[in-house]
Amino acid sequence: MSASRPGVSTRAVHSGNAIDHKMVTRPKSLPIYESSVFVYDSLEQVDDYLAGNPDNYMYTRLGNPNSAALEALIRDLEGGEAALFSASGMAAISAALLGRLSAGDHLVASRELYGTTQSLIEKELSRFGIGSTLVDIGDLAAVEAAITPATRLIYTETASNPLVRVSDVPALAKLDRARGVKLLVDNTFLSPALYQPLADGADLVLHSTTKYLNGHSDATGGILVGDAEWVAQARRFQTNAGGSASPFEAWLTFRGAKTLALRMRAHSANAQQLAEALQAHPRVAAVHYPGLPSHPDHELAQRLFAKGCSGMLAFTLHGGLTEVDQLIRRLKHTVFAPSLAGVASSITHPGKTSHRMLSHDVLSELAIYDGTIRVSVGIEDGDDIVADFVQALDSL
Ligand SMILES: *Cc1c(COP(=O)(O)O)cnc(C)c1O
Repeated sequence: MSASRPGVSTRAVHSGNAIDHKMVTRPKSLPIYESSVFVYDSLEQVDDYLAGNPDNYMYTRLGNPNSAALEALIRDLEGGEAALFSASGMAAISAALLGRLSAGDHLVASRELYGTTQSLIEKELSRFGIGSTLVDIGDLAAVEAAITPATRLIYTETASNPLVRVSDVPALAKLDRARGVKLLVDNTFLSPALYQPLADGADLVLHSTTKYLNGHSDATGGILVGDAEWVAQARRFQTNAGGSASPFEAWLTFRGAKTLALRMRAHSANAQQLAEALQAHPRVAAVHYPGLPSHPDHELAQRLFAKGCSGMLAFTLHGGLTEVDQLIRRLKHTVFAPSLAGVASSITHPGKTSHRMLSHDVLSELAIYDGTIRVSVGIEDGDDIVADFVQALDSL
C-alpha cells in the first residue's frame, strides 16, 4: 500500500460514505436510515443529544430518523403530544404497561382484549405484582366497581375481536377522569382515519401498526400516541428492554400509512356491502358488523365512527366446523390467514386460532361458535368480494 493511497480494505470501508452530505437536491421521499449508530463531529454534539435535541440521533435502539418520521406522522393523525414506535404491537403494549406500572398497581381491562394482551397481563404482569380485573367493558357500572385504590388504568379496545363490540370511549373517559385513573385504548381495528380516541378523552392510544396503519401485510410494528409523560416512561422502558423497531419496518409502515384514509374508506364500504350480503344469505345465522342496524352497538358506532366502521366483521354459519372447512376451500380470492387489515381480504376462524385457549363454554358465552368466521375485508372491488363469498356459501 502506498503512503498516498489507502489500501483496498480502507477504501472499501470509507469511500462513498459522504454522498448524502454532498447532495445539492434532497430526496422527495424519505430514505431508509439503516444505520445502527450515528457519527459525532465533536463533544458538543454529544451534549446537544443529551440536552434532548430531537434531530440529533445516537444509536438506533434509542431512536432513528425512520421511527421519528413515523412517530411524527401518527402523532399528527391521532392528535397526541408524543409517540413511540416499537418492534411489534406487543412491544408497544409492553412498554406502555411496564414503563408505567409498578408492583402493587392494578389495572381494569376489557375481558375481550386481544388474546396476547390478555396473556401478557395475566401471565407476565402478575409475576411482577401487577394485578388486574377483567370486566365486560360495556357495563360501566362493572368497570366502576372494579376500580380499587390501587387501580392506575383502564384498558380497552375501540372494537373487539371478533364480534366488533364497540367501546364507549367518551363514557369511559368520564369515569376515569373523575377518579384520576388513566385510559388506554387500543385503536388498531379503527385507525385514526376513522376514530381518534384522544379527542374523546383517552390518555394513550396504541396500535399494532402491523394492521391498518401499514396495511399491506408486510411489516410488523406497534405505536403509542398520547400523554407525553406516559410516552417518556414507555420510551425509557423500551430503551432498557430493547423492543425498538428496525428502520426498514419503520420506513415500510411510513410508506403504507400515506394511503391510510383512502384504504379505510374502501375497507369500510366493502365491509358494509359484504355484511349486508351475508345477512341476506340463507346459510348465515348471524352477522356482526357495527354498520348494521342489527348490531348491539350500531348507535354508538354511528356516533363515534362518522366516516365508516372499518373492515372487520364476523359471521356465524348455520353449520359447524365441516362447513367452515368447506368454505375455506371454496373461497377463490379470499385467503385463510390469522391476521387482519391488509389490502387483500382474508378470513380466520377464532375458535381454532385467536381464541383457541378458551373452553367451548366460555366461547359460547361470548357468542363465538364453531361456525363463527372473522373476515378482514380488503380493498378489492366490493362486488367481487361479495361474489366470492356468495359462490362459496351457495356451494355448502
Ligand atoms: C395484532 C394485534 C395486537 C398485537 O400486535 P402485534 O403487532 O401482532 O404484536 C394488539 N392488539 C390488537 C387489537 C391486534 O389486532
